[in-house]
Amino acid sequence: MKILVTGGAGYIGSITSAELIRAGHEVIVVDNLYQGHRAAVPPEAAFVEADLTDRNALREIFAAYPGIDGIMHFASYTLVGESMEKPFLYLRDNVANAANLLEAAIAAGVRRFILSSTANLFDQPERIPIDEHERIVPGSPYGESKFIIERMLHWMARIYGMRYACLRYFNACGDTPDRGEDHDPETHLIPIVLQVALGQRPHVTIFGDDYPTRDGTCVRDYIHVLDLASAHILAMEALDRLGERRYNLGNGQGFTVREVIETARKVTGHPIPAVVGPRRPGDPAVLVASSETIRAELGWQPRYPDLESIIASAWEWHRTHPNGYDD
Ligand code: UDP
Repeated sequence: MKILVTGGAGYIGSITSAELIRAGHEVIVVDNLYQGHRAAVPPEAAFVEADLTDRNALREIFAAYPGIDGIMHFASYTLVGESMEKPFLYLRDNVANAANLLEAAIAAGVRRFILSSTANLFDQPERIPIDEHERIVPGSPYGESKFIIERMLHWMARIYGMRYACLRYFNACGDTPDRGEDHDPETHLIPIVLQVALGQRPHVTIFGDDYPTRDGTCVRDYIHVLDLASAHILAMEALDRLGERRYNLGNGQGFTVREVIETARKVTGHPIPAVVGPRRPGDPAVLVASSETIRAELGWQPRYPDLESIIASAWEWHRTHPNGYDD
């Protein structure tokens, strides 16, 4: 298939692009390079530097690359904390950019779409693990922006026959030998812990140890980025029979912040000092996915369910790329 990947210079988008190419698909990456890295884009992919605010540029892209079979939409502002400080980046820009992309796609006759959605739709889960029947309560303007785009897709399906899947990621992590997580500033637990191991930070701060969990720190479902990539590809290839789908994507096991730090100590051989700080606003105690639906419908299976191999893959990339992509 010929797939347009927005955000294909970013962490999950670039690794999924590389996996698409490995599976024999053709990829056109669209990225504004604000947060992405040109060096992360697979050399076999076509690359267009463009911003999704630019509707003319979008029209031109679909004209320049006729016959696009589907879109994977990764490009987005993605930080819960930032969205509480700058809500309009999310409630306006994330939403408007998706609308611009969908409008151009529909005009060009594209009818397959995979959305990067989020576990932040489930701020007050009533049941753990969290399945697709859980009540949607976005935890932030970030989560709300993804929920609005999920609803937008529903109407695109009703009105234009769009086939789509919303993949609600839990905690994406892990790297491949060639591509990895390189955010500036970095806010995610695993890369921060590995920066401590590299001597780039003196310690990691644990955001609260008084949660009702087995060791008092938050429990999260860490899913390897290659397992996310395979879910995207399976979903895209199956959209014609699926129609409209929403899948929660995690590996179904939760690990505490302390367990992540302990595993990183084992993998890196570094003591990784940790200090306990206050809770981070907006963090629920436990977020663990049930991915039974995507397993049953698409035969998806995580290849990296254990924390040690996830952290080992991330350590390999961070150790060999201590300054990230260097751009
Ligand atoms: N966390 C932490 N210290 C840090 C960064 C994160 O204790 O420096 C915790 C955070 O409170 C959460 C978990 O690690 O419970 C995962 O956070 P991350 O930001 O990686 O992902 P999120 O769960 O926000 O998507």
